Amino acid sequence: MGFKTDIEIAQETEMLPITDIAAKAGIDDKYLEQYGKYKAKIDYNLLKEKPAENGKLVLVTAINPTPAGEGKTTTSVGLADGMQKIGKKVMVALREPSLGPVFGVKGGAAGGGYAQVVPMEDINLHFTGDFHAIGAANNLLAAMIDNHIFQGNALNIDPRKITWRRCVDMNDRQLRNVVDGLGGKTNGMPREDGYDITVASEIMAVLCLAKDITDLKERLARIIIGYTYGKVSEQKPVTAGDLNAQGAMAALLKDALKPNLVQTLEHVPAIVHGGPFANIAHGCNSVTATKMCLNLADYTITEAGFGADLGAEKFLDIKCRMAGLKPNAVVIVATVRALKYNGGVPKADLNNENLEALEAGLPNLLKHVSNITNVYKLPCVVAINAFPTDTKAELDLVEKKCKELGVNVVLSEVWAKGGEGGVALAEEVVRLCEQPNDQFTYSYELEGTSIEDKLNAIVTKIYGGKRVVLTANAQKQAKQLEAMGFGSCPICVAKTQYSLTDDQTKLGAPKDFEVTVRNLKISAGAGFIVALTGEIMTMPGLPKVPAAERIDVDETGKISGLF
Ligand code: ADP
Ligand code: MG
Repeated sequence: MGFKTDIEIAQETEMLPITDIAAKAGIDDKYLEQYGKYKAKIDYNLLKEKPAENGKLVLVTAINPTPAGEGKTTTSVGLADGMQKIGKKVMVALREPSLGPVFGVKGGAAGGGYAQVVPMEDINLHFTGDFHAIGAANNLLAAMIDNHIFQGNALNIDPRKITWRRCVDMNDRQLRNVVDGLGGKTNGMPREDGYDITVASEIMAVLCLAKDITDLKERLARIIIGYTYGKVSEQKPVTAGDLNAQGAMAALLKDALKPNLVQTLEHVPAIVHGGPFANIAHGCNSVTATKMCLNLADYTITEAGFGADLGAEKFLDIKCRMAGLKPNAVVIVATVRALKYNGGVPKADLNNENLEALEAGLPNLLKHVSNITNVYKLPCVVAINAFPTDTKAELDLVEKKCKELGVNVVLSEVWAKGGEGGVALAEEVVRLCEQPNDQFTYSYELEGTSIEDKLNAIVTKIYGGKRVVLTANAQKQAKQLEAMGFGSCPICVAKTQYSLTDDQTKLGAPKDFEVTVRNLKISAGAGFIVALTGEIMTMPGLPKVPAAERIDVDETGKISGLF
């Protein structure tokens, strides 16, 4: 196509030493732990010294996407660069990429084009080792569970009711279901087991929500690993605390808990930290990272995974509520191709101009805009993330239609132009942040509502459906969870990201649909109830031709093929 690849652009850019970036962010040397020249960890004790959060918080979310992603990370980075261009003190807080998508279909998660965080190779591959630490903590707990059973099972754990799974940061479908402990009496108790990808581990969610080491340990201790023998009514949950695992797990996580400092291509300080799945977890970077940015900069740009029905909902109803954060503005990323996709165009034809389909897809965008403005009562702007394949007629049509409907809209060209292409968006975001806003409301209340009430609120207000339907199994689980004292936890819905419904083929803005919840599961350490609609994959597989086949490294250590 004649465009430079993401990795070419990243490698051509001269990075500043991370100490310069830290100085620019106002991070005192004593809080900085360097990982080479261009990466550093920031000691969380910085938050103890500078507890006031004065900065404005901007959430970047999106309409229901196509499978390729619509550019939330790209827009977040470019917006931060744009803010810097207009003279604002800004930082960006993002999730760490998982090796699963890096080697699978989607590729890395360090932005794209001229809006990236660097060093992109490191960020996409291992980075500072946080995910390996999370995997180690997860698997230590798994080893302690099986060892406990092997050593006599004083806690009376039923091996058939262990909910804790092992994990690895890789798309490896072969490990989804395994039988382990084979080989006779000295080699453990045989049982059915399985692996999740590391980002789906509850440890990841716990790390991202923990306030500090003490809170981390308390959350780890609360994790439920399975249940005791007996009839359902007699079963007791067994926790990581019962196994005395929290101390050693926290020890493994002590450095992973520290946010990672890097930079954008235009040298804006960026914190990339934590990366929970956006389906069975809440899908945003760590609370510690967000709070650090809020302390250090006047504006913090952050991203939540998937479309706004999942990402923004969980960011606002779970993360902001738990951490006491109040966003000042929301950016909804829309692309011409996602609008066409929502308007019924098959994936293969998304690069062809199609004004009719574009218009037919608009209701999806409008629903998300209405949710942010009318449900959460936050100021919002739509950022049209311009792709090289978009035609002028298409871009003009989106802008015109949005304006006709009173939707605040700005064209973003950060992928092609970096910060310069994000100035218009930056100016609009600053304007929104300066408006008085004290109306922020959650989509449901925690207290005085049942689990079903909370789900109904999400389904009717956010998805635009008629009601939630709990299967008989889920009804039983809801009763059980309420009896166990988890009734006032927030709900984390695991649902397809491609549709406002629980059916990924229903695009646009469907109405009058029901959402079926089949399974309710408590993540007691994270502090939310996961509501599963349909089968949710916690261990993805690789595609026929994985991205891994194109990734290479040469004699000098230079990496190619990452995107
Ligand atoms: P998200 O965060 O929403 O999943 P990303 O920002 O990671 O999306 O972008 C997904 C992919 O699309 C990346 O490979 C990125 O380089 C590419 N991309 C994003 N915006 C553009 C654009 N305007 N033009 C071309 N490619 C883009
Ligand atoms: Mg992203």
